[in-house]
Amino acid sequence: MKIWKILSPKVLTTEERPDNLTSDTQAKVKVTQLLLSGTELRAFTGNPKPKYPFIPGRFAVGVVGEAGSACVKVEKNTRVFIHDSIPCGECERCLTGDSDSCRNMQIAGVNAEGYMRDFVVTEEENLSPLPPGVSDTEALFTGIVATGEAVIDLLHISKGSHIAVFGAGELGNIIAQLLIYHQAVPILIDNDEERLRIAAQCGIYYTVKTDEHMLETVERITGGRLTAASVHCSYNNISPAIPFDTTAPGGMVVYTGFGFPETSAQIKTALDKQLTLTSVANDYSNIATAINVLLNKAVNIAPLHLQIKPVSEAQSVLGAAADEAEKGNNVPVSVLNMLA
Ligand SMILES: [Zn+2]
Repeated sequence: MKIWKILSPKVLTTEERPDNLTSDTQAKVKVTQLLLSGTELRAFTGNPKPKYPFIPGRFAVGVVGEAGSACVKVEKNTRVFIHDSIPCGECERCLTGDSDSCRNMQIAGVNAEGYMRDFVVTEEENLSPLPPGVSDTEALFTGIVATGEAVIDLLHISKGSHIAVFGAGELGNIIAQLLIYHQAVPILIDNDEERLRIAAQCGIYYTVKTDEHMLETVERITGGRLTAASVHCSYNNISPAIPFDTTAPGGMVVYTGFGFPETSAQIKTALDKQLTLTSVANDYSNIATAINVLLNKAVNIAPLHLQIKPVSEAQSVLGAAADEAEKGNNVPVSVLNMLA
């Protein structure tokens, strides 16, 4: 197989590797599309620096080219989402059969080799077949929707409750859409007006800019009660302490994202208000739910106007994205066509 690996910051190269099935429960998947998000960009720019050489690529879809004789849910030509999070199988949780709560989850393109390759050989259990009603590009969002569902599980939301979501990148946007699906009322907050405009096109009614009027606006929307909970998405240049102001006393703040930067916050307000703080960085248990959400079109990604770029131009695509990020601009998520 051909793999793409980052040798050092901003240097991407390719390498050939053997790719034979080594057990009859494995399948060999031809990767068709890969999501290019902040995770890949941070690995490329070395901020924070992964252990180089590093194969990026967390979210990928493909089609099975060869399935071992003991495979039961996939066969040749089955379209699949390749799981990004794989339980370690060795920790205490995994050994007691609770691999959903694995303490050492192996995450592709984060702490394990990513999927920027032409083929992925993996155990069949790490693949989820895709129904015809979910396109490859929609399916790339399976892991993001699953993570959003994990956040919502923690919130125990009641119908009509207001939830503030900080950061209107793809994760915050999708969490806000999922909150609507779960009959809550999201208030999506960001400092980037373009992202808020896209979110509005996705059907999110309350979009609020992070300016000096933000708290006032949240108070007005919630009739002075503030939000029952807040969700803070990482890597959006939004202080982790801002949710303490928007959340009602006794409420919850969930920090989420595909990794967290070095960060610090004054927590006196959170302590005074007896807020519960927790975090979600990946999800392994909601993949089937996420595919169903995508099949039901409960999440609309069309307004993201995803650009699809050929993998042959990966170096220049990532280079241009790195330049944008260095100027302090948000880089929209895009898609790599792994067949071109
Ligand atoms: Zn484990």
